[in-house]
Amino acid sequence: MRERTLAILKPDCVRRKLVGKVLDRILEAGFEIVGMKLVQMTEAQAKQFYAVHRERPFYADLVRFMSSGRSVALVLEKENAVAAFRELIGATDPKEAAPGTIRREFAENKQENIVHGSDSEETAAKEIAFFFSEAELIANQLPE
Ligand code: UDP
Ligand code: MG
Repeated sequence: MRERTLAILKPDCVRRKLVGKVLDRILEAGFEIVGMKLVQMTEAQAKQFYAVHRERPFYADLVRFMSSGRSVALVLEKENAVAAFRELIGATDPKEAAPGTIRREFAENKQENIVHGSDSEETAAKEIAFFFSEAELIANQLPE
């Protein structure tokens, strides 16, 4: 089934000038971009976005990192987009990510791991609504 997922090219990706390279990988893997914006998350927004992790020891550092600079928020469409995108980015820790995945190829460490991807269809719907209004998501109107 064609699905949507939410991706974030994190502040390390923008700072290290890797946005173009990572977008290339996403497009080559067959994802269609239906929403895209440059954002600077506030600490309050980062806290809310990652609220599920609020009890974890890395939460405060993660919030600081995610609000430390600009990010690119993306809504991506593809067959089974949620699982397919998680596969493309690889495990959270780049050392454990499979060869050829985005995190394995570009990420420096477990926190600064280049990219976020939603972990379920339900989370994807919430995360998409966190960044985008329905009117900002562009349906594919190209002729067949
Ligand atoms: N993270 C971290 N240390 C950890 C685990 C996670 O700094 O031990 C950060 C990392 O940036 C990760 C984010 O918190 O992408 C969310 O963690 P999650 O377990 O949801 O990983 P993901 O779904 O991004 O692979
Ligand atoms: Mg997660």
